[in-house]
Amino acid sequence: MVDNGVSDSLFKMPTIKFTKLFINGQFVDSISGKTFETIDPRTGEVIVKISEGTKEDIDAAVAVAREAFDTGPWPRMTGVERAKIMVKWAELIEENGEELAALDTIEAGLLYQFTKFEIPAAADMLRYYAGAADKIHGKVLKSSGQFHAYTLMEPIGVVGHIIPWNVPLMMFFTKVAPSIAAGCTMVLKPAEQTPLSALFVAHLAKLAGVPDGVLNVVPGFGPTAGAAISSHMEIEKVSFTGSVETGREVMHAAASSNLKTVSLELGGKSPLIIFDDADLDKAADLAFFGMFFNKGEICAAGSRVYVQEGIYDELEKKLVEKAKACVVGDPFDPKTNQGPQADKNQFDKILSYIEHGKKEGATLLTGGKSIGTKGYFIEPTIFSHVKEEMRITQDEIFGPVMTLMKFKTIEEGIKRANNTRYGLAAGIVTKNIDTANTMSRSIRAGIVWINCYSILESDIPFGGYKMSGFGGKDLGLNALHKYLQLKSVVTPIYNSPW
Ligand code: NAD
Repeated sequence: MVDNGVSDSLFKMPTIKFTKLFINGQFVDSISGKTFETIDPRTGEVIVKISEGTKEDIDAAVAVAREAFDTGPWPRMTGVERAKIMVKWAELIEENGEELAALDTIEAGLLYQFTKFEIPAAADMLRYYAGAADKIHGKVLKSSGQFHAYTLMEPIGVVGHIIPWNVPLMMFFTKVAPSIAAGCTMVLKPAEQTPLSALFVAHLAKLAGVPDGVLNVVPGFGPTAGAAISSHMEIEKVSFTGSVETGREVMHAAASSNLKTVSLELGGKSPLIIFDDADLDKAADLAFFGMFFNKGEICAAGSRVYVQEGIYDELEKKLVEKAKACVVGDPFDPKTNQGPQADKNQFDKILSYIEHGKKEGATLLTGGKSIGTKGYFIEPTIFSHVKEEMRITQDEIFGPVMTLMKFKTIEEGIKRANNTRYGLAAGIVTKNIDTANTMSRSIRAGIVWINCYSILESDIPFGGYKMSGFGGKDLGLNALHKYLQLKSVVTPIYNSPW
């Protein structure tokens, strides 16, 4: 492990082009004139000031989105026409990939190597849903008797998207790509930590031909701009990704305003269960990646690692070696394996969980400290002798902290894997097909990875069981249906009785 090395950064700050609200196809100041600062997590220093959207700005954005939905071309275009624009947008994203990637690295501390992967993934989401835009149709229900009936799949209307900061561009397109393909119009609030890439891609949307008013991006804070979306009377659906606590508030606001439909993608405390027959080196690689990828700031992170007793000691040793060899530092440096946590709140929260773990009596095998004197760097941390009831085992830490536990039988593995209020994801490592089948059917989680981890693709539905969320999965064709509603149409075949 090295010091954070920020002073030797290989990278110069990208030029920041877009810092204002994007409403009706224009970059505009907020109505109040207020701004807020976005912070470089490598140093804790200000990157730039961003216009701060509040309720009035959300109202303005919703008004133009409403107009664009009620009278504009987007919902009335053919799917093929929408798809052409979406594909053009995807091309522009790839053409501007380096600049976009740098924005997520500078704001969220994502490894630059990873953001270069995030760009094609974002473009792929647009292309995937573009391919679906002209295949949205209902069914013929009756063609005999006196009445003929059929269904229509119609765009749900004006959508509000509220997203977190951990993988900003992926989050943006996870929400926007299916809803825009469905013919909806929308207002998106990026997380206050990471507005820059969202504003940049809004500019690219306009260049691609997305009509004004269809996509509006309003940066701002949760209790003001976010709450204005979830309680808005003119928004038909709110699609939220974030914490359980905020998810509750969003649902409450939706219920007490216009009963808009709600989709929640929330937190996780996902188990990775490694059986005795696993290849040790591969299992260690997978467990390390599953937990420490993106410094643990991944909702599906495999933070509870259960290892069968026969290989526990050896695997523990390998994981500790890997954590000690992990290079924590400037996310722009290609030698870096782990960048800074996204912000000061995260940094403080993670360190306080580490203290809890020590106080609760878990054994700190490695890590446990911050690194350097500036920025938000934390050592990859592994606890053993962890009990199920400890807070570090039950709460989502959303940082580089692994809890390592031993189990004996498959029944115990199932019971302990399910011993959580969350149900976002799970992983299984085994060569035995019976074990894999039994586990994948017994674990109560929305996605189960067998001998792999955190594989997310445009066509694989992703979303939680239990308190990890509900209201339709993200990704996959199902996600399109979150933004559609079903209408039945009935008509006499001939000679209306009325
Ligand atoms: P958060 O809930 O604090 O914030 C998420 C978003 O909600 C931000 O844009 C924020 O400004 C907004 N917000 C905050 N208060 C609000 C309010 N009262 N009304 C409306 N909006 C409000 O979460 P976070 O700390 O940004 O993100 C981390 C959480 O997100 C973790 O729990 C993580 O597991 C979860 N997450 C889940 C998924 C998934 O797909 N399930 C993906 C990524 C992150």
